[in-house]
Order: sequence, then structure tokens, then C-alpha cells
Amino acid sequence: MPPVPPDMPSVQSPAASAAKDRANVPPMPPDMPWDNKTQYIDNQQVTTINNKNGKKLGVRLKSCPGCTNALVYNPEKGTLHCPVCGYEEPALEFANDQVTEQDLLERLETISEEDEAPVHITMNCANCGGKVDFDENVCAQPCPFCKTPLVASALSTRLLKPQGMLPFAITQKQALERIQAWWSSRWFMPSNTLRTSWLKNIQGILKPHWTYDFKTSCRYTGERGDDYYETVTRMVRVNGKTQRQTERVRKTRWHSVSGRVNNAFDDLLVPAGVESAQQESLGPWPLADLCDYHEDMVRGFREECYTVGIANGFQNAKEKAKETIHATIRRDIGGDHQRIGTTNISYSELSFKHILLPVWQCLYQYGDKQYSIMLNGKTGAISGNRPYSAWKIFFLVLFIVAVVALLLFFLNAQ
Ligand SMILES: [Zn+2]
Ligand SMILES: [Zn+2]
Repeated sequence: MPPVPPDMPSVQSPAASAAKDRANVPPMPPDMPWDNKTQYIDNQQVTTINNKNGKKLGVRLKSCPGCTNALVYNPEKGTLHCPVCGYEEPALEFANDQVTEQDLLERLETISEEDEAPVHITMNCANCGGKVDFDENVCAQPCPFCKTPLVASALSTRLLKPQGMLPFAITQKQALERIQAWWSSRWFMPSNTLRTSWLKNIQGILKPHWTYDFKTSCRYTGERGDDYYETVTRMVRVNGKTQRQTERVRKTRWHSVSGRVNNAFDDLLVPAGVESAQQESLGPWPLADLCDYHEDMVRGFREECYTVGIANGFQNAKEKAKETIHATIRRDIGGDHQRIGTTNISYSELSFKHILLPVWQCLYQYGDKQYSIMLNGKTGAISGNRPYSAWKIFFLVLFIVAVVALLLFFLNAQ
């Protein structure tokens, strides 16, 4: 433990005072590639880590000058604040110099498959000194011992670091209010679970994404179908007599076509991790509001590293682009119906960005099933799966049966 500068407030929390007693700190595993050292830099506790290449990496802890509690990002004001005493730092500056397009082909040459190997971060908590094993592929999370938010993105072994992010704009309190409103507006929701402990099980997560820009040129073959009508005469029997009847019948004439269509894609968004259908329906995301990645905007939240690399992400982007390209081909073919035969797509002017998007995730157990509600941390859009109250449905069915029985009874009585 380095000497505490005289102007530093004394550390009060029991977890933090444990740090003074180095005997309490678990020993480092022998295979630990880094040496963890906690020291004070600019009055802030920093765990410095020398990696294999001798490069110094720092995990900085920002603590409240009033009560020494760790500062967290406040989505309402865009500041770092102390959730314990209410201390507020001046508003953070939202720059966007880093959120620029990177050359995709150039990057693909330097990135290998290894870049998708699991990320395991281990460090000593700068507050309590405890050895923290981060969850797999996570680079910011609270210390499991003292709950201090640790942002260790600098220690991530991913070659590409997030350039930009949408900081949280919705606070945890607002997220809970919206989830409760959503919950109470659902039909057949079990009411007794409202405001129960699962609501505390909410977490703000910054999810990794790729955005791709590219142009496509597609040569295609296909068929165009034009409708026409034929008048058909039929003999039908009406009242025992045979009659002549005419009818207009729609038919389609097909002929082969071929051509070329061009499309341009700007910021085609693809998740860089496992994405549930639920998460997918949280969009659209206002990507025009992207700002530079800032460690302080991650404080208090969980940050995930990408598990779908830039090459696989691009494959997914191509799949997404296909829908748009096919729609363009159909317009190009024209007519009443279109059949697409072969397509040959070439891509040009490829670029990408690596960004983080904010999601509030609420996991809860009801009965023996796990449910989850997700909320867009920027726009507030909600998507969730939910339980159904068997009793509520049962009583509604019972009520309908009773009403029908009563109606039948009165109709019979008349
Ligand atoms: Zn404070
Ligand atoms: Zn700790």
C-alpha cells in the first residue's frame, strides 16, 4: 500500500480499510502475467499493471472527495457523481473525434481468429485490494467484494477498442419506472410479482456493436411477371338447365430479365456479441448522437467485449444488406411479380466503426422460468418476455362462460 498523501481523505469503508492490511489480500496466482500495484496518481487510486510487453496500463478509480465512495456516471446530467453524498463533478465533455470510419480491408488483414478468444481480466481492486476475476468477455463490472465499479477496458486483450458509444441517458430509477409501467399495462400479468425483489436485479450494460459502411453493385438474372386477364366461357347447370357463363381469369406472363443495381449502406448496425431477438427489437438507435468512448461514462455499468469479430460481423452485415439489395432488384425488374434468379454482388468502399450501445437488462425468475426485460438506455424502448397469470386467464374464461350461460338462459326463458 503506497503512503496516502496528506490531502487525501481517510478511507472509511470496512472493505477499503481492509486494503490497509495487506495480509487480507489474496496472494497473486503464480501464472499472473501482470504485476498489480495500487498507487495514487493525481489524488486518485490507480492500479497500474505492467503487461508482458512492459507497457504500463492503468485502471483508475475515481473516488468522491467528500466521502471516498466511488463516483459513477449520472445519465441525467452527463456528469460523474457520488451516489452516497450527492457530490457532482463538472459535466463531461462529449467529443466525437474518434468516432470515424476505419478502413475495413486494411483491418481484416491485421486481425486473426485469435481476436475472438475469450477475454479474462484479473486485477486487484484499487479500493479493497481483493483479487477480482472479471466475468468472461467483460471489461467493466463492480468489484464482487466492495461493489466499487471497476473499468478495466485498458486491460482487454481485444485488438480493436470501442471508438464510440451512446452514453446512458436513462437512469436506473427511470428504467425501473418504465419497466413497471410496461409491466402493469400487460394483460394477464401475475400482479403479486410487481415491485418484488427481481426489480433490483437490473443492470446497465454497454453492448458491443459494429457499424459498416459500403457500396454494392449487384448483377442479377430473374423473371418479370405481368398480369393479364382472359375471358373464359364455361357451361354450367342452373336449375336443371345448361347455361353459358363467362368469367375473367387473371393470368401471368413471365419473361427473363437481367440487370445491375447499386446500393449504398451507411452505418449498418450489427451486434458484436450474442443478440437475442429481444435486443434486436430495441432499435432504432440514434447513431448520430455517438460520442467518443470515455471511461468515465462507463463507471457504474458493465461493459462487454466483442465476441463476434470484425470479419464475422461483416458476414452478418452482408446478410442484412441482402434484404435491401433484393428489394432494389424487385423494383428494378418492375411488373406485377418478380422472381430473382442469380445474384452476383461486389462490395466497395468498405469501412467500419466499433461502438457500444446502452441497454438496461432486468432478469427475473417467476415460477421455474427465467424472464428478461430489456430497455434501450438511450431512447427508453422496451422489449421483454413475460409470464402469464394462469388464474387471471382462468377467471376471464370463467366469466365469459358465465355471461354466455346467462344470455342463453334469458333467451330460452322468453
Ligand atoms: Zn460522496
Ligand atoms: Zn473491491
